[in-house]
Amino acid sequence: MKLTDTEIADNYNDVWVLGEVVDGQIHKVTLELLGVARKLADKRASGNSKVVCLLMGNKVNGLEKNLFYQSADRVIMVEDESLKYFNDLIYAAVVSRLIKKYKPEIVISGATSKGRSLMPLVAVQIETGLTADCTGLDIDEESGLLLQTRPAYGGNIIATIKCENHRPQMSTVRQGVFKAVEADNSRTGELIREGVLEEEKQTRFTVLSEESYGEDSKISLHDANIIVTGGRGVKSPEGFKIIHALAESVRGAVGATRATIDSGWISYSHQVGQTGLTVQPKVYIACGVSGQIQHLVGMQSSDFIIAINKDPDAPIMQLADVAIVGDLFEVVPEITKLMSN
Ligand SMILES: Cc1cc2nc3c(=O)[nH]c(=O)nc-3n(C[C@H](O)[C@H](O)[C@H](O)COP(=O)(O)OP(=O)(O)OC[C@H]3O[C@@H](n4cnc5c(N)ncnc54)[C@H](O)[C@@H]3O)c2cc1C
Repeated sequence: MKLTDTEIADNYNDVWVLGEVVDGQIHKVTLELLGVARKLADKRASGNSKVVCLLMGNKVNGLEKNLFYQSADRVIMVEDESLKYFNDLIYAAVVSRLIKKYKPEIVISGATSKGRSLMPLVAVQIETGLTADCTGLDIDEESGLLLQTRPAYGGNIIATIKCENHRPQMSTVRQGVFKAVEADNSRTGELIREGVLEEEKQTRFTVLSEESYGEDSKISLHDANIIVTGGRGVKSPEGFKIIHALAESVRGAVGATRATIDSGWISYSHQVGQTGLTVQPKVYIACGVSGQIQHLVGMQSSDFIIAINKDPDAPIMQLADVAIVGDLFEVVPEITKLMSN
């Protein structure tokens, strides 16, 4: 439903983060989003915008403390047996009802598999817009609107999107795009408890169990300080052996470009880039990677980038802090030898 400026100004306030819990712990992306939610709330000219985390699940009691430490002013907690497994229909019904009740002006969620399933459903139910996979969020000083930045048209342009006439303004953001703020253990906040209505539990399907499938490398790309990435330059699945060896010698994780995944050389869980993961390691070593924009958007915020490529004019070589011109089949084993000694 289209709203007038007065309806928006009179009714909508606060920045919400949809919290996520994995194995009894707050998901890292939730902590990252609370940091950016704080900045957005502080920038609202009204000055009374609060950071609110909506936390839903079966056993989430007690987790609110961490959310307060990480910038939340208020936690709305929905703890219920029906939320044990992620059933997007139940979750969406509850989120939509609470959004209608509390009227936040901004709602952000991690672009996790749950967030990607939940947010579009909610956006349809409450009739508002949604910008997926944002790489930047800010407040327009003049209009007070949320500026939602993301790559568009296959990564060829960076678009900034506004949602002018509908509320809330909704975005998803991938893990690793923003950094979590330092926890302040002296912070506290307001805890509100809500429930799940009986009719919200009646859905067309029941989730019987949940299983997570992890990455097939020893260290998660999101947790790794060092990532060694192989591109089409590795030539074959066997070519990835030297990438794995270097990653192991520096206790890093293995990344990959989409070209290598499309060729079936390595699994999708390793993909870095626009349609893969966004990573921010301390050191990113790109081996035989050309550096197309769709790859760069997933790793360009790395602290230090080393590129190994035969072609000195490859785009990645311009971005790199250290660009090594050479054959990766000679250079990579040399570095591995040095690191292993
Ligand atoms: C909508 C869309 C989404 C996409 N999403 C992603 C994404 O998430 N992630 C992603 O990575 N890509 C993505 N892509 C694909 C992207 O456009 C590129 O095609 C891809 O990143 C190229 O991978 P590459 O660098 O491995 O291969 P290439 O571009 O073929 O580059 C190979 C490089 O290896 C070098 N090389 C070759 N042999 C050697 C050697 N022996 N030693 C050293 N260097 C060597 C070459 O000089 C070259 O620079 C997407 C594309 C589209 C359209």
